[in-house]
Amino acid sequence: MTSPASGTAGPQNLPEYAPVPAIAKGAALNEHGYHVWQVNRNLYAVTDNVYMSAFLTTPDGVVIFDAPPNIGHNIRRAVDQVTAANGMTNQVTHMVYSHHHADHQGASSLFGGDIVRIGHEETRRLLLRDNDPARPVPDVTFSDRYTLEVGGERVDLAWHGPNHSPDNIYIHFPDHDTLMFIDVVNAGWVPIYNLNLSDDVIGYTGAPAIALDYPWTHLISGHLGRVATREDVALHQQYIADIEASSREALASVNPGPIFQHYRENVWAAVRTHLDAVTEHAAAPVIAKYTGVLGGADIDIFTWTTTFAIMQSIRLDRGPSGPVHP
Ligand SMILES: [Zn+2]
Repeated sequence: MTSPASGTAGPQNLPEYAPVPAIAKGAALNEHGYHVWQVNRNLYAVTDNVYMSAFLTTPDGVVIFDAPPNIGHNIRRAVDQVTAANGMTNQVTHMVYSHHHADHQGASSLFGGDIVRIGHEETRRLLLRDNDPARPVPDVTFSDRYTLEVGGERVDLAWHGPNHSPDNIYIHFPDHDTLMFIDVVNAGWVPIYNLNLSDDVIGYTGAPAIALDYPWTHLISGHLGRVATREDVALHQQYIADIEASSREALASVNPGPIFQHYRENVWAAVRTHLDAVTEHAAAPVIAKYTGVLGGADIDIFTWTTTFAIMQSIRLDRGPSGPVHP
């Protein structure tokens, strides 16, 4: 018998990291484990310092934007807290899905079957595929654009192509100076593994420029403890641009020849060694530059895996592919 504390993952064996920079600090949570605040007028955000969702309180009902299971029943607590204070109804009438992922929508079913759910047509297709009772499929879908009007408020939904996921949309609040766009930019933090677990590298790396084309001051980005600013988006873009430049330099400078000669017939061993060497060479200066600047920058596997994905996209999508055999 071994006790959990004696395993290799016990707290005494966990690695230590640099203190998080000031821009990565979260909110002070209440006794239920959430923080809710006014983003602009009747638009509110709620966080547990890992996930974030939002809601609009109107005279005709509450509109919820994403229901992360991490926040779970605290979404209802936050709505009740805010509407008790501002005198609006606490009845939830609508829910908007940013994208289909369960970590952002898995508390949707808590709000029952009598609300109107709105999402991209690809979100509906993927949720029908996934068949998850926690995430009822949207009743109202759209292909490119949809304007939601509830209680005198307006929200513009738009799909500009795949990025983090095939169905991830831009949710613009033109009268609240706010954009909600999930799982691409983390305010004050690096993306986690593989560009925040994203499907489409070109779409992901191009998405922040699309987000910046909208007029907004506040960006609700789906994670961590605060809304992002335009400066946060610019810093994220610089981090990605640095990885791209470093990856191109590494692809050009790490010579695979001696590695392939060493491994001879074990071609995959050579491929692994070469690509790992390129990744390490490309990521090292980026990790050094952003440690102390962005939270998680010294968690090297995040920048390694993001670098690997970008480096592969340079090889596979954008080119150059590598030397052409003479
Ligand atoms: Zn996601």
